[in-house]
Amino acid sequence: MRTHAQAVVIGGGLVGCSILYHLAKLGWTDVILLERDELTSGSTWHAAANIHGLHDNNNVTRIQHYTMNLYKQLEQETGQGCGVFQPGSLYLAQTEAREHQLRLQEAKARFYGLNFHEISREQARELHPLAQFDDIRCIMYEPDGGNVDPSGVTHAYAAGARALGAEIQRFCPVTGTEPQPDGSWIVRTEKGDIHTQWVVNAAGLWGREVAAMAGLDLPLQPTEHQYFVTEAIDEVAALGRRLPSIADRDGEYYFRQEGNGLLIGAYEKDMRFWAEDGTPLDFAHDLFPDDLDRIMENVIRATERVPVAATAGVKRVINGPMIWSPDSNAIWGPVPELRNYFCCTGIIPGFSQSGGLGLLAAQWMIEGEPQYDMFAWDLARFGDWAGKNFTKARVADQYSHRFAIHFPNEERSAGRPARVRPAYEMQKQLGAVFGLNCGWEHPLWFADRPGTVETTGFTRQNWFEPVGQEARMLRESVGVIDISNFANYVVKGPGAHDWLDRLVANRVPTEVGRSCLTPLISVRGGVAGDFTITKVAQDEYMMIGSGMAERYHQRFFNMVDLPEGTTFEVATNRIAGFNIAGPKSREALQRLTNADLSNAAFPFMRSATTEVAGVTCLAIRVSFTGDLGWELHCAEEDQIRLYTALLDAARACGGGPVGGRALGALRIEKGYGSWGREYSQEYWPHEVGLDGLIKPDKDFLHKAAWLAIKDNPAREVLSIFEVDVPHDADASGGEPIFTPDGTPVGRVTSGAYGYTVGKSLAIGYANPAVAQPGDEVHIFILGKPHRARILHAPAFDPEGLRLRDQKPAMEGAK
Ligand SMILES: Cc1cc2nc3c(=O)[nH]c(=O)nc-3n(C[C@H](O)[C@H](O)[C@H](O)COP(=O)(O)OP(=O)(O)OC[C@H]3O[C@@H](n4cnc5c(N)ncnc54)[C@H](O)[C@@H]3O)c2cc1C
Repeated sequence: MRTHAQAVVIGGGLVGCSILYHLAKLGWTDVILLERDELTSGSTWHAAANIHGLHDNNNVTRIQHYTMNLYKQLEQETGQGCGVFQPGSLYLAQTEAREHQLRLQEAKARFYGLNFHEISREQARELHPLAQFDDIRCIMYEPDGGNVDPSGVTHAYAAGARALGAEIQRFCPVTGTEPQPDGSWIVRTEKGDIHTQWVVNAAGLWGREVAAMAGLDLPLQPTEHQYFVTEAIDEVAALGRRLPSIADRDGEYYFRQEGNGLLIGAYEKDMRFWAEDGTPLDFAHDLFPDDLDRIMENVIRATERVPVAATAGVKRVINGPMIWSPDSNAIWGPVPELRNYFCCTGIIPGFSQSGGLGLLAAQWMIEGEPQYDMFAWDLARFGDWAGKNFTKARVADQYSHRFAIHFPNEERSAGRPARVRPAYEMQKQLGAVFGLNCGWEHPLWFADRPGTVETTGFTRQNWFEPVGQEARMLRESVGVIDISNFANYVVKGPGAHDWLDRLVANRVPTEVGRSCLTPLISVRGGVAGDFTITKVAQDEYMMIGSGMAERYHQRFFNMVDLPEGTTFEVATNRIAGFNIAGPKSREALQRLTNADLSNAAFPFMRSATTEVAGVTCLAIRVSFTGDLGWELHCAEEDQIRLYTALLDAARACGGGPVGGRALGALRIEKGYGSWGREYSQEYWPHEVGLDGLIKPDKDFLHKAAWLAIKDNPAREVLSIFEVDVPHDADASGGEPIFTPDGTPVGRVTSGAYGYTVGKSLAIGYANPAVAQPGDEVHIFILGKPHRARILHAPAFDPEGLRLRDQKPAMEGAK
């Protein structure tokens, strides 16, 4: 066994073998995989191994497509059979909402060049003569859908990796992982130690135990999961060909052929956790006792769909473990708090995703960043707040709603509240309907009555009107928005300016009371983040960024050495904040402070530490609403006092509380981008309009990468769309955009009704070679084409007069 390696992959399941293969493929051949037992001995060996191409998340769709194509290439490359059957998959819609979901997926498939299209009931009957489709309102067909052989695929990755020079050691449990001062690791095994640059935790069911060796606590919980295979069925055998699989998600089961029998699996409501206190170390090619009664309701629905299934006996039942994260997406990526430690576990549809997980993991380790924005998988989306109770509650919810439609804006209640601010109870009494925002309970909108629950769907819901009232109230008078979900960082010391200036791309202010907006540049020259940096005092700065990206950004902060004597603090937990905004925000705020808030004394982008209703606040003259306004940041313990005073003052001016959903609509009216939607590492600054904030005459993190791409023609440009919506449904994000003659243009990143301007709006990316401002395009909302126009300027206050509290030029001249 080698004693030195570029990477040690722990775990020889499907995913670990894919990572090893892709590391070697991308040029790291001095790599080794350690498996405590035989390859496949976790969840992998017993999986049903169905494969699908489409996913609600666009980038996950891209990598699932990559994975499906990879298996056949692997067979050719390695000679190892992957048992690929691609008789196609039939996706059934029993409800209108499911039809909308499938039609949207069809439009996305067309955008990405994937084969997923509607077929008639007659065509479906020809493909699957044993199923009945009378109650089905819409059927989609994915010709590449099917299944693979779990062991074959895993061994093909292993063979491919070995052929490229990688090593695999079976029956070699890892017993310890120890970080070294230079960022490398010692991996301990019974066969000896390995000194490695990177550790990869691909230990699947044992992801928690391997993580604990490095002092990590991952939000993961295993569950049982069952499927069974019937005896051979004459009608199946008589067909002499393979039947397509059936994804009848409204029926909550999956169905495919296995030999001459059928395989039926289900995510039942009465789910079972397993190994809550840790996965047993002696568990390998083991299963749990059958418990088909638990999935009987689902099975009955399946046999109604394919009646011959009820005529056959059960040949084999598989009740095996799989391990889940709180949102059922992977726990993936380098751990921000450790050096060179990569996690890749908590993977549910491993056979649909293994190739992409491996490829992008290898890119991240070798090239410093994956080619796509994969925040949906990034473990940095969770923090300490995602503890055991939260994880269990969310996993139970995810498992039992595996096939439910997840609607735009949907907020699931399981496991909440995870963490709250002092004003939470007060907001509840005000009628706040909350969303989960990086663990915080965050007011989305304010209902007439406390305890109101919001409805969900693809069309406008019960929040549409109340949110409209809030948005209009703010634009007409004043609104108070809780912004405690932003991430706050405090940098102090003699090197504070120097450190920040070396980190971000704009020039960091040197004068107390000045602020700047700045992008953070990613490894490949894209937009890793956007921040407001304020010089609060001599040698002290406050930096405000996206709350959800707090741990993600930590990776970038770690890349610039902090000068001696300078401190960096993530202060989010101790700082709360409000934005008071709207044309009467000055009048309202002036009631609470002696500070001069006039335009002359307190212009846009200036700040001051000041007393507001007796509470010490950092006041910054900015607002994400695009209106006159101030952000007020205070100590968390003063939050209620400040909130009470702000609301009283706002009400006296005809205003009141405003939630996050109205803020979303207001910023879309202004065309402001938001991290995680419009801004990501995948996009270049000049594609999103942030290039003007970059100062080429100074040094900053990843400047060379930015210089290398800055003159490239924009691939896609961040654009604003005005949409005709006859169907009572606004864009929400992810919808593909085409020209009227069907050429792909781009896709929506955010959408909302613009209450102030009375128009349905969207922000998204458009390929400038295909569509330009002024052009008409079609946005596929509900999967149907909706006419839209690319706007030349934001729908509301394009000149930014409101923000600066200036009069229009004509009026000013009068
Ligand atoms: C019943 C069932 C049906 C399923 N059906 C499907 C399906 O149809 N389609 C689909 O895509 N997915 C399906 N899955 C999920 C799929 O099985 C998983 O996504 C996949 O197997 C995860 O692979 P993995 O490599 O991450 O983990 P695992 O397979 O659990 O592999 C982890 C490996 O790490 C090793 N290991 C652990 N600790 C150590 C250590 N200390 N040292 C060395 N090695 C260690 C283990 O021995 C194991 O081999 C199904 C799962 C179940 C339970």
